[in-house]
Amino acid sequence: MVIPIQELIFDLSKNKVNIQRDQPLSKFSSFKIGGVSPLVIEPASVDDLVNAVCLLSNYSLPYKLLGGGTNILISDTPDDFAVIRLSGTFKDYNQISDSSFYIGAAANTTPVFRNISLMGYTGLEFLSTIPGSVGGAVIQNAGCYGGEFFNVIQFVDVLKKDKVIRLAKSDIDYGYRWTQFLQEKDSIILGIEIQTEKGDLETIELSLKEKREKRKASQPENRKSAGSVFKNPKIQDESGKEIKSWELIDKVNLRGMTKGDAEISQKHCNFIINNGNAKASDVHFLIELVKERVYNKFGITLEKEIEYFGKIN
Ligand SMILES: Cc1cc2nc3c(=O)[nH]c(=O)nc-3n(C[C@H](O)[C@H](O)[C@H](O)COP(=O)(O)OP(=O)(O)OC[C@H]3O[C@@H](n4cnc5c(N)ncnc54)[C@H](O)[C@@H]3O)c2cc1C
Repeated sequence: MVIPIQELIFDLSKNKVNIQRDQPLSKFSSFKIGGVSPLVIEPASVDDLVNAVCLLSNYSLPYKLLGGGTNILISDTPDDFAVIRLSGTFKDYNQISDSSFYIGAAANTTPVFRNISLMGYTGLEFLSTIPGSVGGAVIQNAGCYGGEFFNVIQFVDVLKKDKVIRLAKSDIDYGYRWTQFLQEKDSIILGIEIQTEKGDLETIELSLKEKREKRKASQPENRKSAGSVFKNPKIQDESGKEIKSWELIDKVNLRGMTKGDAEISQKHCNFIINNGNAKASDVHFLIELVKERVYNKFGITLEKEIEYFGKIN
């Protein structure tokens, strides 16, 4: 079916929502990979969002939510869906009590959690090292250094069809780099309420610094990537130690392997980096190669942590 994009844009513009046509999605991705999208819509409020989602549904144009683009591999041909990027009020965050904050889904995780930490709140320092937006982090239950987003979440506000629903943490299924929202593709995260507590500012500052330095030491810096490509398999070795994906990739000698401009990082081999003009298909090739080699040698099926955004083969 041919979608009358011009008519759809006309209807969307009645609400003054920001619309961009024929945008290379590479500019919205930390991999700097991705083809041209026919339509990028940037709703600035819940009303704008509801209107956009209803119109897209009326015109039968599928859509995908794009946060900071730090956990996705965008297709080289993302031409069969529209992209929604939350903006405006969705970027805000506010203190709502002595120990709680409301954070919009489009807020940038690193500065927000750093700022709240520097206000003297503890237990959030690890979150300030994860790039991307709060919405993308919630969906994935992003985490690091033994902590995860759902440690601090109390409520998640979600748009389902045209209804805003407030879900308490106890009503949400979540686990290691997983939440129910990954399956419910019609749920749009609007914002979260987090619970925290006051701590000693000097200790917090030290913890922020330590975590930043730990990352610098172990990960490729200022390189185009989407972080860890594979989840850790949650399997232990004979001594009871958890096996990490990077160890398996290292043992099948794929550190430094390239395809086009895509490379399995020398520094952290669970990262794939784009050295210039890598295509999604190049990264996909390396992902499949890793999975095959690891399975053939260890019988372990690695699961992707990054998500494919559109068709990739
Ligand atoms: C250098 C580097 C280091 C990283 N380190 C870590 C780490 O330590 N721990 C970790 O967990 N991750 C890490 N990541 C991965 C990534 O930063 C996180 O997964 C992050 O939370 C993704 O957020 P995002 O906004 O970029 O999501 P995106 O990549 O934009 O999207 C991811 C998914 O979320 C969906 N989505 C986005 N916003 C919404 C919304 N509002 N409602 C519904 N769905 C939405 C998208 O459709 C997509 O399915 C790292 C990435 C990089 C580049």
